[in-house]
Amino acid sequence: MSVVNKVPVMTILVVEDEEAINEMLVMILEQAGFKVFSAMSAEAAQTILGDDVIPNLILLDWMLPDISGIEFARQLKKDALYQEIPIILLTARGEEEDKIKGLEMGADDYVTKPFSPRELIARIKAVIRRSHYFSSEGVLTTQTLSMDIEQHRLMINHQQVELSPMEFKLLQFFMSHPNKVYSRTQLLDQVWGRNIYIEERTVDVHIRRLRKILDKHEQKHLVQTVRGFGYRFSIVD
Ligand code: CA
Repeated sequence: MSVVNKVPVMTILVVEDEEAINEMLVMILEQAGFKVFSAMSAEAAQTILGDDVIPNLILLDWMLPDISGIEFARQLKKDALYQEIPIILLTARGEEEDKIKGLEMGADDYVTKPFSPRELIARIKAVIRRSHYFSSEGVLTTQTLSMDIEQHRLMINHQQVELSPMEFKLLQFFMSHPNKVYSRTQLLDQVWGRNIYIEERTVDVHIRRLRKILDKHEQKHLVQTVRGFGYRFSIVD
């Protein structure tokens, strides 16, 4: 099987105003295999998000120069487009009260500075696993589907299914971003990459192929068309 067409990795958005810590976080996360976007303020993070970047997790510093991390988290959790993205708050504060406040605002976890890189990565992986249907390291699962990203293997109802690299990437994106609607443009950016010029109907072609494969295993209903907007991978727990 071809491994040239590498599947997209999990994306993390780092929001931290202290340059040294920001750079260190980017380094740690990249070494752990994540794709990283970094911002020095909530405003800069907003710009990245507005640019159709949909991270799998946001690592958010509490003390930021413009609006606080906690306020930014609150805003994100109110926005339908971003509320599903898990947030880990990063802070120098260790008080129990702050921790509770952070979690009440919608943060998924909390890491206190100074932290060990190993602990940070473990927390990140745990949160991503909880929110993205990872059953174990590198395996995405739903009730009927199981995708081993490393092995580039898909099982439907315990039967191995062959997928082209593109359909695999598309399904991987859907499985790691379930129950949300994505426009064709967003799917092109996220799955094909933003520097490639491809027509939007290419998305439809690959969706059709993917559905055909899923249909053979009576799973066509997972990929839904949202009229006038795009597609959604729908999982009911
Ligand atoms: Ca700070």
